[in-house]
Amino acid sequence: MKEFDNAVRAVVSSGNCSGCGACALIDPGLRMSLDNAGFNRPIRVTELDPSQDARATEEFRATCPGLVVRRPDSSGGDFEASLGWAVSSWRAWAVDSETRFRGSSGGVLSALSDWLLSSGRTAKVIGAAADTAEPRRTVVVQLGMPTVRERQSSSRYAPVSVAENESSLDADVAVIGKPCEAAALKQLSDFRQLENRPLLLSFFCAGVPSQWATDRLLSELGIPDESPLRTLRYRGHGWPGEFYAETVDGVAAATSYEESWGKQLGPSMQWRCKVCPDGVGESADIVAGDFWTTDERGYPTFEEGAGVSALIARTRRGHETIVAAMKANAIHAEPLDLREISSIQPYQVERRETLWARLVGRRLAGWRTPSFRGYGLMRLAAARPVRSARYAYGSFRRSLAETRNARR
Ligand SMILES: Cc1cc2nc3c(=O)[nH]c(=O)nc-3n(C[C@H](O)[C@H](O)[C@H](O)COP(=O)(O)OP(=O)(O)OC[C@H]3O[C@@H](n4cnc5c(N)ncnc54)[C@H](O)[C@@H]3O)c2cc1C
Ligand code: SF4
Repeated sequence: MKEFDNAVRAVVSSGNCSGCGACALIDPGLRMSLDNAGFNRPIRVTELDPSQDARATEEFRATCPGLVVRRPDSSGGDFEASLGWAVSSWRAWAVDSETRFRGSSGGVLSALSDWLLSSGRTAKVIGAAADTAEPRRTVVVQLGMPTVRERQSSSRYAPVSVAENESSLDADVAVIGKPCEAAALKQLSDFRQLENRPLLLSFFCAGVPSQWATDRLLSELGIPDESPLRTLRYRGHGWPGEFYAETVDGVAAATSYEESWGKQLGPSMQWRCKVCPDGVGESADIVAGDFWTTDERGYPTFEEGAGVSALIARTRRGHETIVAAMKANAIHAEPLDLREISSIQPYQVERRETLWARLVGRRLAGWRTPSFRGYGLMRLAAARPVRSARYAYGSFRRSLAETRNARR
């Protein structure tokens, strides 16, 4: 067995694989494919040339977010413990009303993607969209192409591995991906010491649900597995918009964002996302999230309205891109204090503050965990010792139960 395959297998078997696809970029002999639990995992389709084993292993160890995630150095600007560094922060939306309407929140990532292409700043934008042939599935696409324009906006709450795409490290490309995909691509560009790396756009991410949760939700809504679909969207067409599916025969079904994400999709999330140090895209150049309207406790009310995104430039390059897109009238953006963003993202704040405790619990139960460097996780956990002890114990118990199940 090759060293590279051993290293990949160890990440997958410990439950630490996020499904980002970077290992399949390092070695195109791997392909990302749905496993029994409905998550994308690397499988071998062609053998790795033995002369490439050492190179691939080294790159993998420096890159894989199931092994290590390093907080990027500061580019200056403001800092908030649960959100990281920001050169600038904004509330923003797409100026084009159709793009805003179709978007997950303000349609900002789609508007930036369109403008990057039309202005010639990038030759390609790589992102994710519904598969044309089977809209139940999500695939990596080149955004802006005539065949994907109709289906390219909004969040897909299902597995897709953007970092797997062969162009995702090209210098003249922009990539929109989850924070783990941005982290993997940044870590690989740093390791390869690329002089010009792709522009990385990301979004706040609570985690990746199982593909089977989508399939279950559809059948609960009266659309069986064997009915071919014309459309499946998770949200957008309003903010937050509905989970909406339509068969080729014109049978439509819909349910609210709270029902679909809250009751079906969210609870099926993979383990790695529960211990993610960075759901807020610190490794990207630009990151967008929902700028929710909240209740008095800071929890989103999910009232329908015109979408508004929180937008953070992590790097100078990201900041210049946002300012140029504003000048070109592609996006509208108003400056915002970073703390206004953390106050309406309680899940992201709590996950980071309790992460160290959950990792300790997991390790005490004998499981390997990724190494997260530079996030100050221990300091965040120490601020609330009783809560941290509770989380550590819960994680320990659940991990022990997992060990017992794995032995059965
Ligand atoms: C799995 C997941 C979890 C999320 N969790 C949070 C959260 O905790 N807090 C929060 O505020 N918002 C969350 N979001 C929503 C995200 O914040 C919005 O996409 C963001 O507000 C950007 O909105 P937009 O309207 O600017 O983007 P849009 O213009 O709608 O563009 C979104 C782009 O994201 C890409 N994309 C969609 N789904 C995926 C995917 N699964 N993997 C990789 N790329 C994808 C597509 O290329 C698409 O073009 C999540 C989205 C996803 C997909
Ligand atoms: S986290 Fe990404 S790089 Fe690591 S094994 Fe999983 S898909 Fe491959």
